[in-house]
Parts: sequence; C-alpha cells; structure tokens
Amino acid sequence: MTERHDESAGEPASELDAEGWIGGALRRPSPNQDDRPAGTQIDLLVIHNISLPPGTFGGGWIDDLFLNRLDPSAHPYFAPIAHVRVSSHLLIRRDGALIQYVPCERRAWHAGVSSFEGRERCNDYSIGIELEGADLIPFTDAQYRRLADCTHWIRTRYPAITRERIAGHSDIAPGRKTDPGPAFDWPRYLDRSQ
Ligand SMILES: [Zn+2]
Repeated sequence: MTERHDESAGEPASELDAEGWIGGALRRPSPNQDDRPAGTQIDLLVIHNISLPPGTFGGGWIDDLFLNRLDPSAHPYFAPIAHVRVSSHLLIRRDGALIQYVPCERRAWHAGVSSFEGRERCNDYSIGIELEGADLIPFTDAQYRRLADCTHWIRTRYPAITRERIAGHSDIAPGRKTDPGPAFDWPRYLDRSQ
C-alpha cells in the first residue's frame, strides 16, 4: 500500500458559488457530466468510497478515471474500467484534500442504476462524494473533518438534503454496491454534520 501526498489538504471548504463549485476545492472538471432534468430539486447526498487499484491509496488514478484518461495497461484492474464513463462531484483524499470534478448544479455520473425511497435514477437529484478508501479500512480523521465541512456547505445551499436524505451508495444500489462499507462510521459523520 502506498501513501503519497502530492497535494496539500488545502484551505477549508466554504460557500458554494452559483454553479455549485465549493470554495476551497481543487477544480478538475470532468467531461462525465450533463444537465439535471429541468426543475429537479437536489435533495439527496450519496457517500461512496473508491481506491485504484482497490485498497491502494495515493497517486492520480482516480483523477485519471474521472477525466477519461486512465491507462488500461497500467494495472490489470484498470483494463475493464478504463472506458467506463463515471465521475463524482467531489473526492476527499486520505489527507483531506478536496477535489471537485462536477459543479453541484450539474449531474455527475456516480450512482448508476439506483433507487432511493422508490425513486430511481439517483444521479438526477443527488450529489455524490467519494472518499478515497476501501470498505474495510478505517477512513482518516482528516476525511471525517473534511466530509463534515463539505456537508455543511452543501446543506446550506440545498436544505432539502436533510439528515435522513444522506445515504450510502450501498443503500441506493443494494446487492450491486457495497460502499462506503462497514468501516465508514455513520454516527461519527452524521453527528458532526448538523
Ligand atoms: Zn460508489
């Protein structure tokens, strides 16, 4: 397992701008985004984890995946996923660094086939946050701090995202997805995210 910190955790998150870019986030616009359906209220927050290859932290592979430049020959795990078009609004790295790929007003492609309280296509109405991590490896203090910080600013902008409308990917795609996984401490997160 490698730990490489090629960027500082940056300044604290702050208010979203009109397009939904969070202040303090490093912006790396992904081509994997489009408009939400007209009139959509943003009222769901989805928590994920990702690491590439799985269980390995550091490096630029997640950026590469979300920016459609992942080298399929760089690792055996990459070949079948290199051409999948996915993104998330935000990524929080192990050191708490915050990267934004899609402004929150736009639709990121993070949830896939999904349903929340009987309503399908969660990408339409949700914001996706990826934590660099794996299901069974504890997340870092810096990640919990940053996640609480981001959640505060997102909910300030989108108050329809109540505590009950913060879900894991595994909640909206059960049987298909397992993230953020049992190592994610939901009470710790939610108690900090008032
Ligand atoms: Zn996920």
